[in-house]
Amino acid sequence: MSSSSINISWGVSPRFYRSDLESLLSRYAAVENQPKSEYELGLWKVNGLTIKLYKETLVAQGRNTSTGVEIVHEIKKLNGLSVDQKNQSKLIALRPVAQNALICSQCGEYVYLINSSIDGLDISFKNECGHRNNVNAPFLMSVNRLMPDINILKSRNLSRMIELGFFDNCEILIPDYLMRCIDHYMSGSKSTVSEELAQLRELEKWGKVKVKTFKDGFDIPASREEFNIDEDPILLDIADITNSIFITADINCKDQATLRNRPVIFIDHETTKNTKILHELRTPS
Ligand SMILES: [Zn+2]
Repeated sequence: MSSSSINISWGVSPRFYRSDLESLLSRYAAVENQPKSEYELGLWKVNGLTIKLYKETLVAQGRNTSTGVEIVHEIKKLNGLSVDQKNQSKLIALRPVAQNALICSQCGEYVYLINSSIDGLDISFKNECGHRNNVNAPFLMSVNRLMPDINILKSRNLSRMIELGFFDNCEILIPDYLMRCIDHYMSGSKSTVSEELAQLRELEKWGKVKVKTFKDGFDIPASREEFNIDEDPILLDIADITNSIFITADINCKDQATLRNRPVIFIDHETTKNTKILHELRTPS
């Protein structure tokens, strides 16, 4: 959903101070240029962005870079600026992906802080964006953490799907229980899984996903029989603890996940069978 360019305009009210904008922009080493028309009250160039101040509007246009997005989000916090619905959606689409942020139900912004205050004879709660929060369930929250099971890693389809453009910006959680189980009971698959992990790390370098290992503290099963019985429930326990979206190609495992209300992405048989071919066709080299 990320766009290749930034184009946001704000309404400017009398509570807006040009000096606030100037001190913000100077932190990013912006260069002030000569305005090109009598309507422009200010013109700055910063990190591929052009910022123009008019009497009633402030406009930021240019390349979509992470610093550019950061600058836009800093500008958003200045006093006396407002956005309409259209620009609000553009701002939401531009925000960096956050793991575990609350989401304001009214403006869609990420929220990391809810403040209480006494309001007459009542208590009121507000998100840091200023909107009221009734602090009743459900809280809207951003979750981007995915946890594959052993077979998904073994199939190598996760990295292929990422290369095909899926799971962009997600965090892939690899619990060490899974690695220890493979070490003990699936030594034949060890090299395939290691290659898959190396490929996921490579994709992390390209900024496609994040790979996170997790020391879960679960003991590995004492025998192969126990491993066959316990593998799925323990992985699902870890998915619960880490609030991960589970990925599996195993129907039973999918059913267990949905029974315990663990969000799950089910890779069906056809997908499992064809991902490798699709990947070969669509990713040259
Ligand atoms: Zn809000």
